[in-house]
Parts: sequence; C-alpha cells; structure tokens
Amino acid sequence: MSGDLNIPTAPAIDGAQHIHSGKVRDLYRMTEGPQAGRLLMVASDRISAYDYVLDSTIPDKGTILTRMSLWWFDQLASLIPNHVVSTDVPESVRGRAVFCEELAMFPVECVARGYLTGSGLLDYRATGEVCGIALPEGLEDGSALPEPIFTPASKAAVGDHDENVSFDAVVTAVGAGTAAALRDLTLSIYGHAEELARMRGIILADTKFEFGARADGSIVLADEVLTPDSSRFWPADLWQPGRAQPSYDKQIVRDWLTSPESGWDRTSGERPPALPQQVIDHTRARYVEAYELLTGESF
Ligand code: ATP
Ligand code: MG
Repeated sequence: MSGDLNIPTAPAIDGAQHIHSGKVRDLYRMTEGPQAGRLLMVASDRISAYDYVLDSTIPDKGTILTRMSLWWFDQLASLIPNHVVSTDVPESVRGRAVFCEELAMFPVECVARGYLTGSGLLDYRATGEVCGIALPEGLEDGSALPEPIFTPASKAAVGDHDENVSFDAVVTAVGAGTAAALRDLTLSIYGHAEELARMRGIILADTKFEFGARADGSIVLADEVLTPDSSRFWPADLWQPGRAQPSYDKQIVRDWLTSPESGWDRTSGERPPALPQQVIDHTRARYVEAYELLTGESF
C-alpha cells in the first residue's frame, strides 16, 4: 500500500535536513542557525482519502491546521506542556510550520473516544468491546459512550493502518506507570477539549494524541493536536446516532470520490482522480468554518 501513497518529494529548506514525510506533513531537523537541533514540522496542503494522497491539494489547509493546533496547545497549556518552540520559521513555510522540541516519542497513538464510530464501531460490532473495554449493548454509529474511553493504537509504518490495541499492550510497550500516565492525560485533555468544542456547537467525537518524553523523563504533548486530520468533529445540531454523522473534514471529498460522478471505483486498486474545483473550494470552506467556529477568530 505504501508504494501507492504518492507522497511528493519534500521541498529543500536551507539549514534543514529532511527526515520524514507522512501523508500530509514533512518533518525536518535543523542543522544550522539558532534553531539547530530543533525539528521543523511543516503541514502541507495535501489531503488524503481512502489511503491515497490525492493529486489535488486544498489551498491553505496546512496553514489552517497549523493554526488550529497552535490554538489548542494554548488552550491546553495549563494541563500539559507541549513541544512547540517557535513559529518564527523560514519564509517558504511561514504560517504552516513550527519549530518543536525533539522528543523521544512513545510508540502509542493515544486515542480518546467519547462517541462510537470508525474502527471503534467495527470492533464493537465484532466483539462488543473496543480495545478490551466492554461496552453496553445496543450502541449505534455515532452513539455517545457512557463515558470517554482510552483506545490506544499501535503506530503503523507510513501507509499502513494503525491497529487498536489493549491497555495491556501499552503497558508492555512503555511500562505500567507511563501507560497509566498516558491514559490519564489522554482522557483529561479530551475531556477539556470536548467541553470547549461543545460550547461552540461542535462534537469532538474522538481524537488522537501523540506524546513524547524529554531527557528528564517528563511527558510532553507533541505532533498536531485536535485538528480535523487527527480528530472527528461533528456539527452538534446535526448529530443523530444510527447513521454516519456529517463532519468537518474530508467528508465532501469522500462523498465525491465514492459518487458516480468521479468515475472512480474504490476497489479497483487505481489511484483516485483529481478533484473538481468545486469540491476543492467546498472542502477548503469547511476547514475554514471549523477553524472559525472553534477559535472564534476569522481566518
Ligand atoms: P501519517 O501520514 O499517517 O500521519 P506519519 O505519522 O508517519 O504518517 P506525520 O504525522 O507527518 O507522518 O509525521 C510526523 C512524525 O513526527 C510522526 O512520526 C510523529 O510521531 C513525529 N513527531 C511529532 N512530534 C514530534 C516531536 N516533538 N519529536 C519527535 N517526533 C515527533
Ligand atoms: Mg502522523
């Protein structure tokens, strides 16, 4: 699958060494200048759907998501330190990149879910549980859970799917004390963010955090946080369990790709076609809308 991802070559940046590209972001390590040793995390305008990086980009998406992440890091600052060092980045990536502290990342995708959908729903339908946590009977797509749950996933190689794992698997990977700390942090950050989003008419159905450790062992919130790429945001007024919920992310893209209009067959193994301008514009508008609703700032 990774062969088909089609991630473009990351642009060269002076004084920086490219170290990794995911579906959406490019990661560099600074080798020169005042930020030498820091990571430079650049969010592109790439969009992925159905495990493909599409040929079309969404203008400003990288900037919107970077600003959203920074806004959340600020909102959460009293709960948890974060990896952001500076936004005074090279001109070519201004607005869409941050310098951050390089941490020893825990090999766990720390997922919190307050609502049931996606891989959680699939697991629940198969076993009645998600990540070893038993749930009540009768839940549907989009149901609110009795209380938010920690549903960790193993971090897959680029192009592979993350796999839901049990809490015990996290204990094995990082030790009992750290596992408990990651779980408690994940749930408390989710709880805070969910409440904040709810006040603005958005349901934060689920989200994924990544944490890393400083040399002194302290735990720091890293990666991107609480963006539509790492979370599910649903308009609260349209929430209706028992069906797929409308969401503030790539739904428009997914809907178009799977419509007859695109001429694309998801099961064909062929790459998806370029998006029509109207779908690009509409998707951009949804990302802007999510940003503005959440932060109360205009983009
Ligand atoms: P995907 O496209 O599925 O997200 P990916 O996770 O490999 O793939 P990115 O999310 O773009 O791609 O990569 C960012 C990488 O940087 C991740 O491996 C993440 O764990 C890592 N990372 C994030 N913050 C830090 C940090 N402060 N220190 C070290 N590594 C970090
Ligand atoms: Mg990632």
